[in-house]
Amino acid sequence: MSMNTQGRPTGIGTLGTSASGSALLPDEPLLFEIGDTEHSGVDLPEVDLATDRLGGFGRKSKLDLAGLTEPEAMRHYVRLSRLNHSIDSGMYPLGSCTMKHNPRLNEKMARLPGFSDIHPLQPVSTVQGALELMNELSHWLLTLTNTAAVALSPKAGAHGELLGMMAIKAAQEAKGEAHRTIVLVPESAHGTNPATAAFLGYTVTPVPARADGTVDVEAVKAALSPDVAAIMLTNPNTCGLFEPQVIEIAKAVHDAGAFFYCDGANFNAIMGVVRPGDLGIDAMHINLHKTFSTPHGGGGPGAGPVVLSAALAPFAPVPFIKGVQDRFELIEHIEANALGRVTAFHGQMGMYVRALTYMLSHGADGLAQAAQDAVLNANYIKSRLEHAFSVPFPDYPTMHEALFDDSFLKDSGVSTLDFAKAMIDEGFHPMTMYFPLVVHGAMLVEPTESESKQTLDRFCDVMLELAKDARDGNSARFTSAPTKAPRRRLDETRAARQPILKWERPVDLPKAAE
Ligand SMILES: *Cc1c(COP(=O)(O)O)cnc(C)c1O
Repeated sequence: MSMNTQGRPTGIGTLGTSASGSALLPDEPLLFEIGDTEHSGVDLPEVDLATDRLGGFGRKSKLDLAGLTEPEAMRHYVRLSRLNHSIDSGMYPLGSCTMKHNPRLNEKMARLPGFSDIHPLQPVSTVQGALELMNELSHWLLTLTNTAAVALSPKAGAHGELLGMMAIKAAQEAKGEAHRTIVLVPESAHGTNPATAAFLGYTVTPVPARADGTVDVEAVKAALSPDVAAIMLTNPNTCGLFEPQVIEIAKAVHDAGAFFYCDGANFNAIMGVVRPGDLGIDAMHINLHKTFSTPHGGGGPGAGPVVLSAALAPFAPVPFIKGVQDRFELIEHIEANALGRVTAFHGQMGMYVRALTYMLSHGADGLAQAAQDAVLNANYIKSRLEHAFSVPFPDYPTMHEALFDDSFLKDSGVSTLDFAKAMIDEGFHPMTMYFPLVVHGAMLVEPTESESKQTLDRFCDVMLELAKDARDGNSARFTSAPTKAPRRRLDETRAARQPILKWERPVDLPKAAE
């Protein structure tokens, strides 16, 4: 078989990889290396086209796709899926990502033909059920957050941030305060916060974190000025702590004529327990793919609806749903709307179905219990590990994720990265590493409510055993890890800087004369 080194930057034999090559997990060739373009996986009769109805635009060259049979194609993708860790195969404690179980009921509902077979350009009278579902989802999001308006359409958390900040910008301009060009962002924020503000042309001013990991209202007051348009604050924050002064911060921000953007990616810790609107937020995105169990990872699809306070509601984008007597209308255009639309069509319908299914199957009390169980699980991990790991902010109970730093690894020759790689050999997806940036060598563990005590105990046993081994000087176990994964350490920098995104057909070299 001709090996395609172009399309496989980590091919067998190159530095940093291993041939996994076991009988059950063979190295997986590319589709084009399994099949070829000369064959088809299905037998179709020759078609005698009497008339060309494509106006001469029919394909003249061959379709350059590998022809595979259904079992060949299926096995290829199933084998690929087994090369990666997934939430369906093991615990996935990736902090700030809320990798919870995706209930199969959600999938069943999303596949109902009335939802999956409709088209965004269908007449509104024929998609009343879908609009009713979007309206119901909006109602749940508004109720859970106690806010005035919701825009469902953003396609990810970061996209929601952009929309929320666009609404804030439009509101400032409408007040004649376009001179407000600064956005305050605490040091512990997710990278998308300053990126969003900068993308919209704002100058980002960092707000230092207190020694206990929370944001000091006095530091916020000191940074506020007539030039500040907004603060972007995450609550619970990325250190896993509920901001104790969030209400005072909201008041100070409003008193200074600015708006409060809340990064709501961590809503899983408080849904059904705290309504962010009661804390004084003006805009907040909700990651349906985190909090409401729609699948994520691998680049999507996500959904990041944004809730808005009464002050920002007039700046919501289109489209939105309006109930008119006994039917629903899709409002796609309003006069003097500052933002217009932020996506083609209506957003991620399939995610709306999954999220509402999750809400309805839990009920309001069930959602609150899920949040409380997520917090309980994180505190269980913290209390089982805190004697062996170093806890940077011990003053508060943690919310939905437990944060450790790397001081317990001091002088062991093992880094946070090495430790995380060794977890792969033990069957666990690593936790989030080196984030938040305010903590040295951070390890952020988010178990979510999905995990049983048995799984949490197994995870903690492994973590404690690894910590002991690192301190006992067995650094080789860590620096060479992972040894049991299909791939060993990859050159991640090169993969990011020089991605090879296109498969090139290998050139057939003339055979040497025998
Ligand atoms: C996940 C996350 C985001 C971004 O959400 P995406 O859906 O990945 O774009 C923003 N802030 C925080 C704190 C997050 O955890």
